Amino acid sequence: MTLPHLGEVLPDALGGILAAAGLRHPTALAERLFRRVHQHGALAWEDLGLKATLRHRLAARLAFGPRLSAAGERIAADGTRKFLWRLADGEAIETVLLRNLKTRTLCLSSQAGCALRCAFCATGRLGLRRDLAPGEIVESARRSARAAGVRASDVVFMGQGEPLHNYDGVVHAARLLADRRGASISPRRITLSTAGLVPQILRFAREGQPWRLHVSLHSAVQETRERLMPIARVYPIPDLVAALRELAARRPRRWITLQYVAIPGVNMDEAQVDALERELGGLRYILNVIPYNDAGPDFRAPTWREVKDFTTRLRRLGCPVKVRYSGGKREGMGCGQLSAERLALAPTGGHVLAPPGIFSDVGVRG
Ligand code: SF4
Repeated sequence: MTLPHLGEVLPDALGGILAAAGLRHPTALAERLFRRVHQHGALAWEDLGLKATLRHRLAARLAFGPRLSAAGERIAADGTRKFLWRLADGEAIETVLLRNLKTRTLCLSSQAGCALRCAFCATGRLGLRRDLAPGEIVESARRSARAAGVRASDVVFMGQGEPLHNYDGVVHAARLLADRRGASISPRRITLSTAGLVPQILRFAREGQPWRLHVSLHSAVQETRERLMPIARVYPIPDLVAALRELAARRPRRWITLQYVAIPGVNMDEAQVDALERELGGLRYILNVIPYNDAGPDFRAPTWREVKDFTTRLRRLGCPVKVRYSGGKREGMGCGQLSAERLALAPTGGHVLAPPGIFSDVGVRG
């Protein structure tokens, strides 16, 4: 039987485990252990300051120990830091820490690799290796923040992987990160980002999840979106927009945030703006324009002038438009660039591309 890992059990569930073990004051002990792990960074039994008898009783019910080992770190000129973590089974993931004046944002991976194969993304070229366990996700956050000597103010699930493809794992990780007895990150500062998995967006909306959800649109023209994101073949634009309308209806006080990677010659012309106006009419949304970061040979990054022209034309949509430049993009840490470094280091390094049938694994529609 696999024991639950102490690093990924929420305090209430932990209290239940301790009560079942016959331990005294299980609630207080659970909170103490949770704080030790998630606030003080305990990684192994000996870090918990427990008497040997108590430790042995806990070890019969719970596993504990580090699940990641540090495999590398780079610091960009703008202060962005990228951490490479090796998992116990040999897989590797990246975490990026972005700094600006007021915030310290951790960009977390939710999977090793990714099944979705977006054309502009280096991670997609790895194929899906596996989902991350909540404890692995949270440990990557905790250890990256500690290594950088910061307390994270924000978390975004925009690293390797499609977060809603690992829905339960990511939601559980978000709960661990938000718990006031741990890192205590506000739910409004925890953002999941999806390439547009319609059933999972609807589930997210119907469950009333408190986290923010960003949706990568990248084009409102079906053919263009399919070219950029093969998942668009599974969930076409009308289905996606219908899901967004339901999400908006269930969260009337929140704006829908749409991500739009701007690629010259692909999705920045007038017809693309027309399509956005046509498809998204009546929806209250913010459009985050992310100038494409070089991550492969197929596209080029836009110039500053091209981005400016595009955002000027977007004004007629009447929605707030924000341009998001990726921290550390010169050093391969920006949006869509994660794993570019690994691919460059090991172009045939054992990473297989997702098999053609992988999309049957993505949502309820096969
Ligand atoms: S952009 Fe996101 S969903 Fe698309 S391949 Fe990259 S990691 Fe996966």
